[in-house]
Amino acid sequence: MISFEHKIFREEGVNVLEIDILPSKLCNFDCIFCPAGRTEGRSDKQKSFGELAGGLRELELLLNKYEADVVSLNSKGEALLNANVEEYIDFIKGRGRVVRLVSNGYLLGVDKYRLIASKCDEVFGEIKTVNEDDFQKAQRPLTGYTLSEYVNNMASFRQQYRGRFIFAVTLIAGYNDDEASVEKICAIIRAIVSDEVVVRRMEDERFKRKLGINDGDFERISKKILTSGLPGQEGSNRVLNNGNLADGKWLAERNGNCYRRCQRHRQT
Ligand code: SF4
Repeated sequence: MISFEHKIFREEGVNVLEIDILPSKLCNFDCIFCPAGRTEGRSDKQKSFGELAGGLRELELLLNKYEADVVSLNSKGEALLNANVEEYIDFIKGRGRVVRLVSNGYLLGVDKYRLIASKCDEVFGEIKTVNEDDFQKAQRPLTGYTLSEYVNNMASFRQQYRGRFIFAVTLIAGYNDDEASVEKICAIIRAIVSDEVVVRRMEDERFKRKLGINDGDFERISKKILTSGLPGQEGSNRVLNNGNLADGKWLAERNGNCYRRCQRHRQT
């Protein structure tokens, strides 16, 4: 019998059912700050975690139990590496739900995975480290991976993808919170041209003390990232009474533990 860890939460007025489709960790990276722990044997090959029928039965149960508008496929690792991920996406879409895929983004440059991800209504990609040395040492990807290829993979995926691409930046003390790194983050965001940018920080208690960003720096850097020459931005930004940033076209807001900027919040 297959059982998926899951949780339901509200986000921007809709119910999101987050389902972890990897029973154990499987990833093409082995980040030193991974909340799911060490990756035993990094891989970019899909692996079976049980019979397809069992997984579909579990999904059916969850979809019947929760009134979810969006189903977010997240995982302890890279969700694309579950051998049944495509069937799961088709099944959930067949039930009329919006499907969101949360990926680290590297495999979006591989044809097979690009085609699977393209079936989703929303795809999440991300960046954490912004120089090659840190990428290799802190995110410990598969041999041959490079940071520039990582960014290119997401940018090329974005160019052909017709759904909503959400790009997440995690601020990490000592890795990407200095001036030069923030500039690099902005350049990467401009290259990828996502529909939404989310800036977050280390929230896991195990890493917060060493790698966490304080509230002041989090707000300052987030606002800089979300307002510095992003595509589609027009006019000057202003800070609203509630601390949010806005301009005539865009709104960047603090939402739970992150700052975000997206077209959905376009002001009229
Ligand atoms: S990419 Fe994400 S899931 Fe994979 S090792 Fe890094 S933090 Fe963990």
